[in-house]
Amino acid sequence: MRCKTAERYISLKLDGELSAKLVSKLDEHLMKCSSCKEIHRQTALLTENLTAIQDVEYPAWLHHRIMNNLPKKAERQSTWRVSLAYATFSLMIFFSVFAGVGLGKKAYTDNSDYAQIEQEDYLQLSFGDNSIWEVYDE
Ligand SMILES: [Zn+2]
Repeated sequence: MRCKTAERYISLKLDGELSAKLVSKLDEHLMKCSSCKEIHRQTALLTENLTAIQDVEYPAWLHHRIMNNLPKKAERQSTWRVSLAYATFSLMIFFSVFAGVGLGKKAYTDNSDYAQIEQEDYLQLSFGDNSIWEVYDE
């Protein structure tokens, strides 16, 4: 087993997500490799400490105090960003409608074949023989 693989397996083992077969392979590597053994020791210690931290309860006022001390400027900036996003979005809609209308006009004026086709033929052309429009017509 390569050390890179062993490092990945160490985390999985500590999370309880490594199969027994791979755990024994990892343990085999840890017996031979001192650097991975040290990584395993430190990671296990870190995991243990982090698990202990989760049990600590924070005082109820801490959240309010942090929120009240946040700079007010940040709020204004985010509102400005939201309106910029709306403006960009509106412009995109406007230009896509504009471009769509432009493309449509160009397609119908340039393509003289379409212009000569009768109204009914055109409906069949665009929706096909099994079109739902045809079903409604009958
Ligand atoms: Zn190693």
